[in-house]
Amino acid sequence: MNTTMRAMLFERRGTPLRLVDLPLPQPGTGSVLIQVEACGVCRTDLHLVDGELPNPLLPVIPGHEIVGRVVSFGDQVAELRVGQRVGVPWLGGTCGTCRFCASGRENLCDNARFTGYQINGGYAEYTVADARYCFPLPDAGDAAQLAPLLCAGLIGYRALRLAGEALRVGIYGFGAAAHIVAQVLKFQKREFYAFTRPGDTASQDFARGLGARWAGSADQSPPAKLDAALIFAPAGPLVPAALRHLEKGGRVVCAGIHMSEIPAFPYEILWGERSICSVANLTRDDGLEFLDLAPRVPISCEVHRFPLARANEALEQLRRGAFQGAAVLTMGGRPVA
Ligand SMILES: [Zn+2]
Ligand SMILES: [Zn+2]
Repeated sequence: MNTTMRAMLFERRGTPLRLVDLPLPQPGTGSVLIQVEACGVCRTDLHLVDGELPNPLLPVIPGHEIVGRVVSFGDQVAELRVGQRVGVPWLGGTCGTCRFCASGRENLCDNARFTGYQINGGYAEYTVADARYCFPLPDAGDAAQLAPLLCAGLIGYRALRLAGEALRVGIYGFGAAAHIVAQVLKFQKREFYAFTRPGDTASQDFARGLGARWAGSADQSPPAKLDAALIFAPAGPLVPAALRHLEKGGRVVCAGIHMSEIPAFPYEILWGERSICSVANLTRDDGLEFLDLAPRVPISCEVHRFPLARANEALEQLRRGAFQGAAVLTMGGRPVA
């Protein structure tokens, strides 16, 4: 086996990721060494490299939509076997004892650690992860197709859960998460309405192709009042914009980790028991539930592949909105023996 690996390293804000050779990491107690097959590129990775997330590990290997195969493990790993395909999500570890962990809300753990932020992630040929936070994945199939499920899919699904039984769901920002949520909504026979940047007719066409009841610009009005709005774009002004289209009792769910300032708005657009909430991280139960649902939909991701060394290009294309669906880094490694 190799003793070194290639990785893309984030060293400081304002500088591109750098391709480096690093010693192969070793799995400690409770951890597994994973040969990465594919790793999705998430908007959170852009917030990381733009310095919008506080106190990252530096330097750090980004990437928290990891699909790979177990190569070896440290002591006290009983649940996984060598060669098994696993997914590693954003939630990389929790304390298990704080009031949030103790009440089934490990996504809010006071001492949580996150993959590709405080723990080295999947923009690399290998990674080490805590076995308790890895999800078993189907052995067959394309790793690149599975990668976006690990964050875009999971966070989108949690956002949808917070929207409750909403029949008419608005989606602001039609990127990776939205294109997965759209397929779940269609499967559940609910309606969705897609809002994009003004003039982004390519994304509007993409949304219609996935079954949108209506697609238009974020400054347009949908043809019906919405029961819920999911906001995946990091733009604060979308919050009052979405509130104005909500039916009484409706909810705006902000699904991103970072958002620009929300402008002031009149109380009357919140009145009528409308509410605003955010989605933070994920619980392992969210992951198990969503990964069980995904093949039954079945979810098919629109994937744009980049080799590991072109991660900076993938991030720039994500920033510009240059593609529909999700960008995924593929490592091209040989199968684990
Ligand atoms: Zn905790
Ligand atoms: Zn993410």
